[in-house]
Amino acid sequence: MLRQRPSRSALLLALLLLSLLPGAGSALPASAAPPDSARATLDAAPVPGRRPHAAPDSARRAYRAWLRQLRAHVVADSVARVDSLARADSLPRADSLAQTVAMPPPRDYVAEVRANFTPQNRAYSTTRAALGFIEPLYGILLGLFFLFSGLSAWMRDLAQRLSRHSYVQVLVYLTLYLVLGFALGFPLAYYRDFALEHRYGLSAQGFVPWFLEQLIPVLVSFGFLGVVPLVKLAYAPVRRFPGHWWLVLGLGTLPVIVAGAFLQPLVVEPLTNRFTPLQDKRLEARILEVAERAGIPARNVLQADMSRQTRKISAYVSGFGPSQRIVLWDTTLKGMTTDEILFVVGHEAGHYRLHHMWWGILFITGVSFLLFGLSAGFMRWAVGRWGGRWGFSELHDIASMPLFIVALTLFSFVAQPGMNAFSRRLERDADTFGLELTHANDAAARAFMKLGSQNRSNPEPSPFVESFEYDHPPLIERVRFALSYHPWTEGRPNRLYVPKD
Ligand SMILES: [Zn+2]
Repeated sequence: MLRQRPSRSALLLALLLLSLLPGAGSALPASAAPPDSARATLDAAPVPGRRPHAAPDSARRAYRAWLRQLRAHVVADSVARVDSLARADSLPRADSLAQTVAMPPPRDYVAEVRANFTPQNRAYSTTRAALGFIEPLYGILLGLFFLFSGLSAWMRDLAQRLSRHSYVQVLVYLTLYLVLGFALGFPLAYYRDFALEHRYGLSAQGFVPWFLEQLIPVLVSFGFLGVVPLVKLAYAPVRRFPGHWWLVLGLGTLPVIVAGAFLQPLVVEPLTNRFTPLQDKRLEARILEVAERAGIPARNVLQADMSRQTRKISAYVSGFGPSQRIVLWDTTLKGMTTDEILFVVGHEAGHYRLHHMWWGILFITGVSFLLFGLSAGFMRWAVGRWGGRWGFSELHDIASMPLFIVALTLFSFVAQPGMNAFSRRLERDADTFGLELTHANDAAARAFMKLGSQNRSNPEPSPFVESFEYDHPPLIERVRFALSYHPWTEGRPNRLYVPKD
């Protein structure tokens, strides 16, 4: 839900975009609205971002966090290893929803979820959880390195020697920053998004294609921040309104986010994947029937060839207004039974119909004011204390960029529990909507169980970890809810889904 730039909002947007830069950990509200990715999605594994395989350094992490927010989440971002999928496929195919409703599940899914959380899965999930804390710290240390080493001031001086035009100066500074940031952040990115995923059999990608995909966010940042040039625009209010620039940037966030949300599926997502109508025509008919009952046009339900990159399974809603669509990963279509897929569609239809993109946009805009306001105070203090050592005395000096990133990363980390709580609330509503639409309690529980058990995520995290890392409710909670929520069998009205007739 967030990105892009309408007129003056472009300025503001810039700030948002700053968080895309290397070192910007999750400057954007990471789980705020349309989340799904990474952290806790359905599964426990913090896989930030929708593209589980990708994204390396903090830049990438911020990029993913951003994407995550843009999309409205997945049912499960999780993961499913190939062997697990094979096993999953052997589950009974309960294609008839009616049948599922009539017959209570004979299996103890909660016990199965717990049993499937093996020591190996625990190791993966613990590592992921730890990375959720290490990454912001790493991003902050990286920013401080740029400042205290004098590197940032040197880059500014070099840019000023090369050109007298401020546009070119910013472009030069930004290029150096992106390249150095990518290089310095690469080890962590490689470990998190390549080595770790391969060690646990979750990635389907070789090193070269993976590496090339890591360059995409860098190029996108260069295009939007430098060429466009949003960074230069963002610095304008900092110069003009030294005391209130954070208000201007906060205001500008809204249009930027709206435009970003709109363009995400049209411009950014096609850079890494192909999106097509559903290939399995029989399955498509079933899926479109569910979508139609939810009031979602058939043209807005697509599949993506995510199997090129990952073995995880997921689905999400992205886009805004005319560009909004439900996207099902092909891995999900292959790894789940029809009734499970239909529930997933119902969940995504909930995000779509309940206008979670809008709620997410409003929430993130509010959070932006908070982040910019806190950052403004912090940066004023920091420049007063260390500005001499860093080689600049004014915030509107381009050499202050790492300081912006340090501040945004710091405060967005602090705000993380609030953003995750908001996101989990939307996810619970989407689960509720999906159940009311499909009445597929058993299939929903199986879908969650499949995602969870195969995704190596902790189905019952500690409250602390849940608060900082889970933008979806823990698995056990979702399974229990799926099995217990059926007001239609008790003559009670739906809470969220209103049938058309
Ligand atoms: Zn969701």
